[in-house]
Amino acid sequence: METIDLRSDTVTHPTSAMREAMANAAVGDDVYGEDPLVNQLEQDAADMFGMEAGLFVSSGTQGNLVSVMTHCQRGEEAIIGDVSHIFKYEQGGIAALGGIMPHTVPVQPDGTLALEDIEHAIRQENIHFPYTRLIAVENTQGTLGGIPISPDYMHEVTDFAHDHDLKLHVDGARIFNAATHFGVPVAEMVRGADSVTFCLSKGLCAPIGSIIVGSKAFIDAARRNRKILGGGMRQAGILAAAGLLALHDMTKRLQEDHDNAHYLAESLSEVPGISVMSQATNFVFLWLEEDAKLSPSEFAAAMQDQNIIISPYPGSERKFRCVLHYWITRDKIDTVKSAMEAVLS
Ligand SMILES: *Cc1c(COP(=O)(O)O)cnc(C)c1O
Repeated sequence: METIDLRSDTVTHPTSAMREAMANAAVGDDVYGEDPLVNQLEQDAADMFGMEAGLFVSSGTQGNLVSVMTHCQRGEEAIIGDVSHIFKYEQGGIAALGGIMPHTVPVQPDGTLALEDIEHAIRQENIHFPYTRLIAVENTQGTLGGIPISPDYMHEVTDFAHDHDLKLHVDGARIFNAATHFGVPVAEMVRGADSVTFCLSKGLCAPIGSIIVGSKAFIDAARRNRKILGGGMRQAGILAAAGLLALHDMTKRLQEDHDNAHYLAESLSEVPGISVMSQATNFVFLWLEEDAKLSPSEFAAAMQDQNIIISPYPGSERKFRCVLHYWITRDKIDTVKSAMEAVLS
């Protein structure tokens, strides 16, 4: 029986078209700039985002670290959300490896950073203070539930950054989900931003890899930082072959995941003992009610017995996150619903 893994869209496996493209990939040494598919992937991504250049990196974490390190020198400050991925889930890498101070401001319930809060966080010229260099925003906002941030806000925060002589980085791990939600091209979502990182390896199904896009000068500097972090890869065209299909094909089908997330939320709202807390883009948050028949760990174990993997969200044992993706089809959602009804009734 096939496993239904709802924990994340990072669990997606490459499609058969990807495996075939990988097997047949022409390759070269990318540190010498000679891997044809890596070069193509970087340029195609840049074109799609309306930027000059792109850089293939091993992960979203590496993409954010390289980007922040490229914008900020040691001892300088980056303004980021207090529940952003960069702050919560990257081991403090910008501080540990980049010597960069995170200055957090609260992420609002709609996933944005209030411009007023950012304004208060920007340092004035004073011998005691570090220099503020960067604002980083996340789209979609992950921890709060895959919340898509509107193009209007994105343009507003970008202009705000530039008016204050700061750079704007977008942690766009799932920016294509946001673009799909608003029905606008990614180039429009991030217009004017100084850098964007996005993941090929989540809902886009590639096995490995993220991309940074920005100006040619920024990407040249980022390429040096990727190298010092051990991210110079050789025949990476094997991965870029899958990445090209992720970029060109898989970005076009994300509405299906959003529709399925909506369908899952509707289906599960009928299950006794479960309430649906939120649904946005491809994320659904569930709450296992206090009077449910099973405890949270018993519930997860009972679902596992049905070959369904669902795990409590860090920080709250009754809160469960379901993430929809290419491999979770409608019939599997029906299976999940029946299994939950069976274990909870
Ligand atoms: C997944 C994710 C990352 C990091 O990507 P990895 O490839 O897992 O390192 C960064 N930011 C956000 C918002 C993410 O969801």
